[in-house]
Amino acid sequence: DDLIAGLLDAFPAAAALCSPDGALLAVGKAWRSKMGAMSRLPKGGPAMFLAFAAARRDGLGECVLRHAGQDWRLSIQLAGQDRYLLRLLDAEELSPNTPLHRAHTPIELDVFAASAPFGAALIEGPDPFEGVVVEANGALAAIVGADTVIGVTLGTLLTAASVGEVAASLAAGRVGPFEVAPASADERTAHLFLTGGAPRWAAYLLDITEQKAIQIQLAQRNKMEAIGHLAGGVAHDFNNLLSAISLRADDLLLRHPLGDPSYDNLAEIRATVDRAAGVANQLLTYSRKATLRRESLDLGEVLSNLEVLLRRLLREDVRIDLQTGRDLPRIRADKAQIENAVINLVVNAGDAVRASGGLVRVRAARVSAAAAAVGLGYTGPAGSDLALIEVADDGPGIPPHVIGNIFEPFFTTKPQGEGTGLGLATVYGIVKQSDGWIVARSPPGQGAIFRIFLPEHIPPLVIEPPPAPARSRTQARDLSGAGRILFVEDEKVVRVIAARLLRERGYEVIEASDGEEALALAEQHAGTIDLMISDVIMPGMDGPTLLKAARPYLGDAPVMFISGYAEAEFSDLLEGETGVSFLAKPLDLKSLAERVKARIAGA
Ligand code: ADP
Repeated sequence: DDLIAGLLDAFPAAAALCSPDGALLAVGKAWRSKMGAMSRLPKGGPAMFLAFAAARRDGLGECVLRHAGQDWRLSIQLAGQDRYLLRLLDAEELSPNTPLHRAHTPIELDVFAASAPFGAALIEGPDPFEGVVVEANGALAAIVGADTVIGVTLGTLLTAASVGEVAASLAAGRVGPFEVAPASADERTAHLFLTGGAPRWAAYLLDITEQKAIQIQLAQRNKMEAIGHLAGGVAHDFNNLLSAISLRADDLLLRHPLGDPSYDNLAEIRATVDRAAGVANQLLTYSRKATLRRESLDLGEVLSNLEVLLRRLLREDVRIDLQTGRDLPRIRADKAQIENAVINLVVNAGDAVRASGGLVRVRAARVSAAAAAVGLGYTGPAGSDLALIEVADDGPGIPPHVIGNIFEPFFTTKPQGEGTGLGLATVYGIVKQSDGWIVARSPPGQGAIFRIFLPEHIPPLVIEPPPAPARSRTQARDLSGAGRILFVEDEKVVRVIAARLLRERGYEVIEASDGEEALALAEQHAGTIDLMISDVIMPGMDGPTLLKAARPYLGDAPVMFISGYAEAEFSDLLEGETGVSFLAKPLDLKSLAERVKARIAGA
């Protein structure tokens, strides 16, 4: 044993001899002076376990040994039966520029790293990107799209831009994960984790292409949602103002009929209000708050009926090819709105092929959600079959920097005066309101393709009630009547003018500016109110809540809601209520007066 101790003392490096369980059998002077007195190796965790395993297998293993707050590189060498020679190599002995001398064959990745679903690599060198990959698992090669990565530098496997960004982040002290793109497929994205330090690094690479795509989609959807809210709010306020203008214009037109010097101007104001109402309505459609009448529709029939109109909409040198497949699923949608959506897409396609005198293809087909998701860009829920409406053209296509914006209201690339930028926003709103999905694709050189996916509607079996006998249309232009009306509307501009016009036509009108006030008035006039007209959305108590609370005082008096929003928005709040009807804003005098008269007459 003295011999061994003498031998260990003679070693330039700190050296010791240990048994497989870590008990120190003999230690040299240098070891003792560096590590102090110890009878066994400090615990080293899995790294030390692996180093011992490597020593057993290859003759030599290495690991980092932490003792008294300092890191040492520990070399473990098999030295006869059940004996290991340990040597400590100081950190300062290792110049970062001299690669570690290794007298053994390359370490193999342990079974965990080798079979991991993410890429793993060991890199040797002063810098993780200039160092050479000495070991890597199969997943790493697959993610970077290379046959072999051993002997290659990590820097060449990633795009130069990624390497630059990561290097800058590392220099700034960030620890990652870093977003990188493989050089062979820069449309993919991976997360890079780096551990270790010169001269040896471990790199882990996780493919996050799918997650990233979902993230972008989600952000896009949130943006559209936010714009929708904004557009809906603007349209709602706009409708109130338009109601006030339109009601006054109607009133003036009655006083200054055709032949009066003011008639032309008034008629012009009236027509302008109608155009403005059209814009407000498109915004409401976009924000999915337009009034829809959804019904079960035969899509093939809708498109066939539309064909003649579509041909007429396009210039003569543009060909249209309409194909409706067999066995098309039924859809539940508003017929006029679906027509509107197809017309918008076809008009855009027609505009796009203007220069080339080209072809617009419209096709409808039944597709499974799975097939749509794989080949057609559908990102909605799986499950039921879908109706696909596709409008494609062979025009110049949509540039990549534009395609993310085309569904936004007022986004247009057309010259001033030609585009409103509301076409696709309207289509988007219609599709969303019909529980559908829309995607735009523009493969280079192949024009633009718009695809609408609508869920199949399987109508429940119902026995139709016999049709009600047709009521003879009242042709009387007499819009006057009698009765007591409770009129609830928070917008003063609308309430005051509408109430005045109704009073002029013979009604007694009690005005309330919100739900609470209306409830108090209803109680006060219990049993004597002939009709309640109420806005739906008001600060405080909303229309449907007011109705529920005021019902005992109203008896079976009819109720009419007026709103700039869709009936569907609140129809479920009215469950169980009867005698309720709906009038959309902006109001005009004729419909208001006609409806009031009809409701009070009990029609
Ligand atoms: P507008 O047609 O008034 O510009 P849209 O909302 O209908 O408004 O369309 C927005 C933009 O989308 C257009 O200005 C155009 O840039 C682009 N776009 C729509 N359809 C096509 C198409 N078929 N081909 C190329 N670009 C299109």
